[in-house]
Amino acid sequence: MPDKSLTAAGRHVPAAGFFGLVPTLAWNTFRTCNFRGALRMLTGISSDVNQRTLARPAVIAGPGLFHGVDCRLRLLPAAENTGIIFRRVDLAARPEIPANVRYVIPGSRRTILSANGATVETTEHLMSALAGLQVDNCVVEISARELPAVDGSSLPFCEAILEAGLNQQSALRRTTSISELQRISEPSNGQWIECIPGYSEDLVIDYLLDYGPESPLPSQSWAIQVTPELYMSEIAGSRTFVMAAEVEALQAAGFGRHLTGRDLVVFEKDGSVIDNRLRWPNEPVRHKILDCIGDLALSGLNFSGRIVARRSGHKLNHVMAEFLSTIENNRTAVGRAA
Ligand SMILES: [Zn+2]
Repeated sequence: MPDKSLTAAGRHVPAAGFFGLVPTLAWNTFRTCNFRGALRMLTGISSDVNQRTLARPAVIAGPGLFHGVDCRLRLLPAAENTGIIFRRVDLAARPEIPANVRYVIPGSRRTILSANGATVETTEHLMSALAGLQVDNCVVEISARELPAVDGSSLPFCEAILEAGLNQQSALRRTTSISELQRISEPSNGQWIECIPGYSEDLVIDYLLDYGPESPLPSQSWAIQVTPELYMSEIAGSRTFVMAAEVEALQAAGFGRHLTGRDLVVFEKDGSVIDNRLRWPNEPVRHKILDCIGDLALSGLNFSGRIVARRSGHKLNHVMAEFLSTIENNRTAVGRAA
């Protein structure tokens, strides 16, 4: 039975009997309060209605996840209402690729954007870090077509952003909400994602990972309110994962040949992890939420409401980002015409 309960602070509460629940709540509240206090003192970060950008540039470097090519990435402060823009500084014309769902092109197991004759691959983990920490405006300079894989999570991106610091800007954040539930589904494989009107200002994501009875990975369900504090403590550290049975085919196709079991989470047939240890027992479902946040950020908006996803991957996430972007653009057009 999936457990979807949330504490008042939005923290997931594992299934437990009464005597197990009380200490869990107390410990989680203690940890949340301390973490929030420390994070605010160190960085000034918390939810904000104003747009934000980096206080100074941040640099991260390393090989990409799929192609293994070294990439130097610089996150630069940007003016309000810029949004997130990738800039390929390794190409002569230094083409820019806006981080918007309209520039998504088909790509297996990752998000690829293409504009102005250039592409940028595996954008979802950095986009997730920026959205999770509520960074609205940033120019992302990259020296190769694929972003650094770092440790397969978004935590190193987050740490670099927080070390650079964040500045509040004058303009308000672009936020959208909906009045009716909307579901997007792929009936052929049972995948779906829906957005539901929210009861708070924050985004809440509820995800069910389920690869079926034959999978070495048992189904996992988790829900969380996506505030910057909870993003840092509960989501950012979750890493990319793959099944050992899939690795051979991926490497035969030329992907990830530089990777070992220490670079990402690889599940063996019996459910064990090769050369690595999970950071949380439900790390995979946390990573699916991390990916979902990064893909939805391509709407260029902050969604205030609940996202419920069942086995949704990048493709359905992009359709949902497009839906959110379209309804907000239509509202703006109607507002202008009135
Ligand atoms: Zn991912």
